[in-house]
Amino acid sequence: MEPVIVIPVLDDNFAYLFRYEENKAIVVDPADTTLILNEVKKHNLELTAILGTHHHWDHTAGIKELKHKTNCSVITGNQNLAGRQTLTFGNCRIKTIKTPGHTADSACFYIEPSENNDGMLFAGDTLFIAGCGRPIECDASTMWVSLQKLAALPDDTLVYPGHDYTEENYEFALTIEPENKTIQKLLEDIRKKQRQGKLTVSSTIAQEKLTNIFLRANNPAIKAAINMPNASDAEVFAELRKRKNIFG
Ligand SMILES: [Zn+2]
Repeated sequence: MEPVIVIPVLDDNFAYLFRYEENKAIVVDPADTTLILNEVKKHNLELTAILGTHHHWDHTAGIKELKHKTNCSVITGNQNLAGRQTLTFGNCRIKTIKTPGHTADSACFYIEPSENNDGMLFAGDTLFIAGCGRPIECDASTMWVSLQKLAALPDDTLVYPGHDYTEENYEFALTIEPENKTIQKLLEDIRKKQRQGKLTVSSTIAQEKLTNIFLRANNPAIKAAINMPNASDAEVFAELRKRKNIFG
């Protein structure tokens, strides 16, 4: 069985169904009710819980109706989640990781590896493929600390972000490091995938540490590239984030 069903919603959001048993699933960030219920039905699943990464409507719009229709439980970052808390569904263990930055209530969900699935991270608007969310409700240094928590997860963890901003993120990275051959190649690959109508998810923590310009704010080469060789990691991160906001 395929443990993750990717459901594109709205313009560029991703909702996800995670199957922790043959017929049981959890949904992450359901911004739509009908699309989610169609997939639930199609795969003959019972929806037992909703995980919400943060309070923005493009991640939460379907929560109320889905709960009403399925009577599933709802777990979100703005509930009083402890710093790290483990939830259990069948044999599956899910760690909640508080990641304030984009919003004060942002949380990510780390599914521990099991017989059924690899380790995986539902990263909401905290970590994108090659990018990260805008720090809206917290300052950039808080966001940087949160991103470090995600970078510390096992290298082979699959990353499932809340939006598809992959192409523009690689384009932005090349404004900082125009000669980076790895990123040039990844941009080419992602454009090809998009032309073929394929989805751009997922990535891995290892790939993000290597190619996500924001996770590399602690890298001397990046500091040098933006003329901040002696600045702190958080200052470099804040500068990169500022430039990305201008870029788009
Ligand atoms: Zn958001």
